[in-house]
Amino acid sequence: MEQLASPTAVPEACDFTVFGGTGDLALRKLLPALYLRDLEDQLPLDTRIIALSRAELDDAGYRAEVRTAITTHVAEADLDDAALDRLLARVHHVSLDIERPDDWHLLHGLLKDRPRQESTVRVFYLAVAPSLFGSICQQLESIGLVNEHSRVVLEKPIGHDLASARAVNDAVGQVFREPQIFRIDHFLGKESVQNLLVTRFANTFLEPLWNSHWIDHVQITVAESLGVSDRGGHYDDSGALRDMVQNHLLQLLCLVAMEPPTYIGRETVRDEKLKVLQALKPMTPEAVDRDTVRGRYTEGLIDGVAVPSYSSDLGATGSRTETFVALRTEVQNWRWSGVPFYLRTGKRMDRRASEIVIVFKRPAKAMFPHSEGSTEPNRLHISVQPEEGMRLHLTAKEPGPGGIRLRPVSLNLSYATAFDQRCPDAYERLLMDVIKGNPTLFMRRDEVEAAWTWVEPILTRWAASPDRPKRYPAGTSGPIAAATLLDRDGRSWQESDS
Ligand code: NAP
Repeated sequence: MEQLASPTAVPEACDFTVFGGTGDLALRKLLPALYLRDLEDQLPLDTRIIALSRAELDDAGYRAEVRTAITTHVAEADLDDAALDRLLARVHHVSLDIERPDDWHLLHGLLKDRPRQESTVRVFYLAVAPSLFGSICQQLESIGLVNEHSRVVLEKPIGHDLASARAVNDAVGQVFREPQIFRIDHFLGKESVQNLLVTRFANTFLEPLWNSHWIDHVQITVAESLGVSDRGGHYDDSGALRDMVQNHLLQLLCLVAMEPPTYIGRETVRDEKLKVLQALKPMTPEAVDRDTVRGRYTEGLIDGVAVPSYSSDLGATGSRTETFVALRTEVQNWRWSGVPFYLRTGKRMDRRASEIVIVFKRPAKAMFPHSEGSTEPNRLHISVQPEEGMRLHLTAKEPGPGGIRLRPVSLNLSYATAFDQRCPDAYERLLMDVIKGNPTLFMRRDEVEAAWTWVEPILTRWAASPDRPKRYPAGTSGPIAAATLLDRDGRSWQESDS
């Protein structure tokens, strides 16, 4: 029985190969995460990190880039010269064009040239465009680098619709067995997201309330204040629904809505998440028109600074891609019958915040009808970023004589203050899980395809509609229609954690 708290053991030796080793993801996230785990002595003693790209870099040249990346992206308090030197000594660069079969012998030579190579865990992290996933896997197999100790990590996006997701999964699945495939969604590596599971399943007080009898509705927001900047072309091919809803927001919804698994194990959690995805209310054309809103930012102000419109960021007009989505759905099972789940995500919004808000029903009877002050419904507010934490909003009596005055108060759990230790980045947790072979926090093929199955009718309906995304000024909370989506149900978005 694999437990989340006691994952499989750290192997003795690991070759961690990063395709796309000079890219933004590798230098900003992966190498700093590996450094921080090495700082804690958690990497296998015999670890090599092998970065691949077409750049003409030798080990020394690449190590210089990694040194700069780590000193830039790791907090000063965690920089240690000896630890950095140790990490850099593990790092190698191989100049290889994935699309040139003749280049691959270089990787083959390096991976085969080590003691204990048969028992060494080989991680192949694909931090490159998904169009290269299939040919990478085929090459790895054809040169004999895939064995029972090999694992492949796939970054998003996995497809841009159901058919292309299946094609990616088929191509990778021809070489790697499903337990060897780690589809990463970094939201699942966040402490606050894992704590959601712990809060639900290691405590008793919430479970009796965690259903349609006591919960009025659920809101999930992933708001970014950044625009698309220089990555506009890539973004314009996907849009907010594909980029954020299909993966991150639906994964968060799954963790809120899933049934308690028999135990927290590598398949049991994913089994329960899959059931949630399969229970989502289907998006008929009428439901898409009624229950979804897509938007696009125009120029505006963020923190008092003027920012351009999406068209200006993109350098083109005429695009119909959405930078904002709000939608209403339901999980059609016994527990959640009739409870709306409102999802929203957008770029260039008024704040950067990822949060889940569970809004409870009001008390059955107004016991203090003549009191002054607020009687807001109870809310459990889970903050995923930028700060990780949890707040339970209650109503309390304001101290003082002369009648009862009600005031909203909150019980706060801030990770930064409650625990006297650094809150690790999601990639630190997830990369160690890959090395140890624990896939619990990664998406299984059936989950990814169930998510696309639910999302696809929205894409189809939008593509057929003459309507364009609704405009919203940068620095706001999205188009007015997103507020109307809740307003018509007598509800409103929780705009701040007050
Ligand atoms: P990037 O900055 O453009 O880096 C791409 C990397 O791939 C570079 O190292 C590039 O090196 C290498 N590469 C491209 N074509 C190659 C080829 N034919 N042979 C060998 N190497 C090749 O991209 P990124 O931001 O790191 O993102 C990589 C992937 O992860 C993308 O699919 C992206 O959607 C996904 N992703 C990124 C992030 C993020 O935060 N950046 C987050 C989630 C998912 P050379 O050009 O020197 O060969």
